[in-house]
Amino acid sequence: MIVLKFGGSNLRNKTDLEKILKVISMYKEPFIVVVSAVNGVTNKLINALNNINDLDVDDFLEELYWTYQSFLNEENLELKERVYVIRDLLLGTKLIGKVPDFVSDQIVSHGERCSSLLLTYYLNKNNIPCIEALPEQFGMVTDGKFKNASVDLINSEGNLKRFFDQNKNYVVPGFYGIHEGQVTILGRGGSDYSATSIAYCVDAKRVDLYKDVSGFMTCDPKYVDGVKPVRRLNYDEAAELSYFGAKILHHASVDPARKKNIPLYIFNINHFESIDKPDTVICFNDSVAKTIIKSISFTDDIAVIQFKGTNVGRVPGLLGQIASALGNEGVNIKSVVTSQTSINVLISRQDLDKCQKITKKMKIAEVEDIQYKTEISLIAAVGDGLLRKHGIAARIFTAVSKKNINVEMISAGASEVTIYFIVKLTDRDKALRAIHEEFFKGVENDENN
Ligand code: ASP
Ligand code: MG
Repeated sequence: MIVLKFGGSNLRNKTDLEKILKVISMYKEPFIVVVSAVNGVTNKLINALNNINDLDVDDFLEELYWTYQSFLNEENLELKERVYVIRDLLLGTKLIGKVPDFVSDQIVSHGERCSSLLLTYYLNKNNIPCIEALPEQFGMVTDGKFKNASVDLINSEGNLKRFFDQNKNYVVPGFYGIHEGQVTILGRGGSDYSATSIAYCVDAKRVDLYKDVSGFMTCDPKYVDGVKPVRRLNYDEAAELSYFGAKILHHASVDPARKKNIPLYIFNINHFESIDKPDTVICFNDSVAKTIIKSISFTDDIAVIQFKGTNVGRVPGLLGQIASALGNEGVNIKSVVTSQTSINVLISRQDLDKCQKITKKMKIAEVEDIQYKTEISLIAAVGDGLLRKHGIAARIFTAVSKKNINVEMISAGASEVTIYFIVKLTDRDKALRAIHEEFFKGVENDENN
């Protein structure tokens, strides 16, 4: 089987459905199509919950149904019923005026369940037989962490193998799995991760991810001119780029594919030519590019907590104490950089308030001062071979320093394929341009692959 995934940006209007139909009809093998919510719907559901006290539930659902109906130009009672499935849940939530996590995940994932029904109906109507299958039916199990769950691949695999008939076509809603009967979403953009997890479980031969952008680029074109396509990445490179901010892939989606060596193809549906011409292929390969660096990504969703003290680098167990205190409150540590006098913990900017509260309560004798760095950006240069080839770090930091940018912190060596560093937010764009120019100026489109 092959797994295909269409994102919300591929589902804006009726023409988009026609494009999807055209693409799907080119596949010869049985498929599982994973779909996201229609563009904008997830945000609308989240907004509805954020303003639950003022929500007019029936107006809201009516409008939602119209969105779906506009794709078909006809009344569809089954779809209407599906849209209204969350009516009681919304009314009940409004009544209690609070949104429990399990209700939130159930409602936020509703857009996907509407998409899967819409697409199943549309494909069947256009002579592509397929069956809708929901994660609660085929048993895609998660670790139960609301809002940001991980797929339990080991327990899901048997369920999916038993459920899916390798000779049939399916349409599946992405973005969520089930834990003890409850819906848990996989984090924003999680349908990519659904697709690769399903591929893992059914031993798919490939995952084709359809987007409205042309695969990975040497940098984000919104910030840097002259970016080039990146045709090939290995699993580590793609995972690191996504982890450090590349928005094209959900950060967890590479892992299930890597575990079974399943290639990921990324297509821009708007320039789709044929199934064997993807924009970016992610697979196992150890090809080092001429440019060494293949792509540069960044994230502003970062803050640093600095635990300072003359001896902090030497005291055994200190890092463990810090990590448990944060971990117990559900804070994910993105990275740690230590020295004799400072332990620097990198976290998501969104977790900062929480972390400040936790660290205030911490009593560690060796820590004399705790400082927080915000208004920063983390820039990651990624490419296999960058640690093996000498001089790459020097080129990165010379390029940056020539622009008078101060580098606040550096980490290299934690991953074979990444060097990252932190600059002030106000220096971010200059830094990105400086490194991009250093590695890619005058380079032909295919030399960075
Ligand atoms: N619809 C969800 C979101 O907007 C999941 C996805 O698009 O992959 O985050
Ligand atoms: Mg999306």
